[in-house]
Amino acid sequence: MFQQLDAPAKDPILSLTVAYREDAREDKLDLGIGVYRDSQGHTPVMQAVRSAALTLADQQDSKGYVGLAGNERFNDLMSQFLLAGTSALARSATIQTPGASGALRMLGELIAYAKPNATVWISRPSYVNHQPVMEACGLEVREYPYFDPDTKLVNEAAMLESLRQLGPDDVLLLHGCCHNPTGADISMATWQAIADLAEQQGFVPFVDLAYQGFGDNLDADAAGLRLLAERLPEVLVAVSCSKNFGLYRERTGAAIVIGATQADALRGKGHMQRIARATYTMPPDHGAAIVAMILENDALKQQWLDELQAMQARIQRLRQQLVAEFRSASDSHRFDYFAEHRGMFSVTGLSAEQTQQLSAEQGVYVVGGGRVNVAGLSEDRIGKLVSAFLAVGA
Ligand code: PMP
Repeated sequence: MFQQLDAPAKDPILSLTVAYREDAREDKLDLGIGVYRDSQGHTPVMQAVRSAALTLADQQDSKGYVGLAGNERFNDLMSQFLLAGTSALARSATIQTPGASGALRMLGELIAYAKPNATVWISRPSYVNHQPVMEACGLEVREYPYFDPDTKLVNEAAMLESLRQLGPDDVLLLHGCCHNPTGADISMATWQAIADLAEQQGFVPFVDLAYQGFGDNLDADAAGLRLLAERLPEVLVAVSCSKNFGLYRERTGAAIVIGATQADALRGKGHMQRIARATYTMPPDHGAAIVAMILENDALKQQWLDELQAMQARIQRLRQQLVAEFRSASDSHRFDYFAEHRGMFSVTGLSAEQTQQLSAEQGVYVVGGGRVNVAGLSEDRIGKLVSAFLAVGA
């Protein structure tokens, strides 16, 4: 059965990690895969998560199955947390999923079931998995203009102009904050303009929120989503707890359907449960149980908020330091965009050749297209990154 199989394509980001591991140079630098690292280069277990996990180990008296929608307490807390203050909360329904990856797949399958001819529009560029997941659901995928390689910011005028062609058979996939890979986010005025267009033209926004709390703060990072949720009858949301709770390997996320009525949303939820049943049946509980415990315990929640805020502040500090070092080493302001970007990543516009040179000659690993994981840097490695970039002619 397997003899005639072709060789599977390698995942570009995961294979970068392998190449990095095999590099014997001591001063090598891994800015590929999207994980947060502290100043020691470690991806820590957050203290609030550790405390909740210990309590859970002590108090949990059963490992019996939960249900197709996962941990319903988690589902309620997540939707309240995200949609608090909007009328959309009362017309939403949520399932817990294995990470936002699972949420993207369940929501993609739901779109394909509800509207098989739908086209999903993704930003150019977008998260590497958006297109494969939506295509795996049988959906057509098209791109809208997003990143301007000259300014390293979003070309919001071109984006909005392109969205004018969308109609009721279209779904618009947006990054809630901290755009992956570029780091360039849209302004509130553009969120507003998207709401206007969706109202007039009937397309459905689908917000992927994987980095809430890493951009400016939890509320600011959800402001665009809340604006759409308040104004529009239908919005889909994929949420990740991988980054903001540091629960990467626990595969914790949620898929939220906002409908014109609660009954509509519950129908969407019911179909996602049916689809989950035929996929993985139910998501792993551990991460969701931890998140639920943190969100409903004031002291743990405060501890989590403080830790998250410290991570956000550290990323912003690294961005400022990068800009300062680039300014003095290059005697120019051409790297100032690092401080304009938000979240873990920045697209730097390095060519494929420069990226290759960076790893081969400098031992610095970044993703193709020049995506740098700023959150993977430590303060004492900034100089290394700056000199390596300038050495390859960035
Ligand atoms: N969406 C975006 C934009 C992402 O960057 C990621 C992960 N890097 C995901 C979804 C998936 O996250 P997870 O499955 O770990 O929750």
